[in-house]
Amino acid sequence: MVFRFCPECGEALIMRRIGDEGLVPFCEGCDMPYFPISYPCVICLVVRNGKVALIKEKKAEGLTLVAGYVRAGERAEEAARREVGEELGIEAEKPRFIKSYYYQEGDNLMLGFVCAAYRGEFALSEEVEEAGWFSFEEAKRLLEGTKVARFLLEDYLKGENY
Ligand SMILES: [Zn+2]
Repeated sequence: MVFRFCPECGEALIMRRIGDEGLVPFCEGCDMPYFPISYPCVICLVVRNGKVALIKEKKAEGLTLVAGYVRAGERAEEAARREVGEELGIEAEKPRFIKSYYYQEGDNLMLGFVCAAYRGEFALSEEVEEAGWFSFEEAKRLLEGTKVARFLLEDYLKGENY
């Protein structure tokens, strides 16, 4: 996202040269630069006994992984645990960063995590229509139409994170 107006005071931003960053949108009133950003999200491979949790959201077609926005002031690991808790109703243990992805459609920086689930029964959020545990092979097939979810699963299985 490229800011054109100041999110604090609403003034139109000008372009100002800031060191190595080059020209950056800048509010003269607040004396603040507003660097273009891609909103950070987490996407989580929740794993239990060699299976992975896939969900079907009410607003979406097909199955995918738990994902959601990182809140202001929140660490990505906390966001991963919170999102898994909200969507699946289970504790996500030991969230571990795998890799990041840029998701162009949403202009998101997607931070891919794997976490362990010690309890398998879901208590789904209202946004989630259904969820289940799938073998990695099944999951690969079911995530074929997705981008980041499939890449994260593949990168996890490749062990490219080490
Ligand atoms: Zn301003």
